[in-house]
Amino acid sequence: MTYDPSNIFARILRGEIPCKKHYEDEYVLAFHDIYPKAPTHILVIPKGSYTDIVDFGANATAEEIEALYRAVSKIAAEAGLQTAGFRTIANTGLNGGQEVPHFHIHLLGGKKLGPMLAE
Ligand code: AMP
Repeated sequence: MTYDPSNIFARILRGEIPCKKHYEDEYVLAFHDIYPKAPTHILVIPKGSYTDIVDFGANATAEEIEALYRAVSKIAAEAGLQTAGFRTIANTGLNGGQEVPHFHIHLLGGKKLGPMLAE
């Protein structure tokens, strides 16, 4: 899939659309989902232009990959998700229900979550 620079997360990264920022470093931005599906629902995205987890794992630099996973750990711990547990989701492509074609990891927590998959 070719990266579409007009996607909403690319626009957030360029500062064209506001977001409720939770964390930022050189490689990563994290912000609150606009339609939260749990009391805590944070999206963690690389600043680089990657369409999905496959593109990211294949083409991102080691620094970008390290930064993303370290940010997920840091955010989960600091947002208090780690103790009670939480869920990470990376929807991918059509069957995965991915709506925004910029790789992102959902961090969901703050309550006991339901079954892993909706029927
Ligand atoms: P996905 O279906 O995995 O692509 O998830 C995309 C997520 O982005 C959904 O949970 C949306 O609620 C969320 N979303 C869409 N637009 C925005 C926005 N402007 N700010 C924050 N989250 C957004």
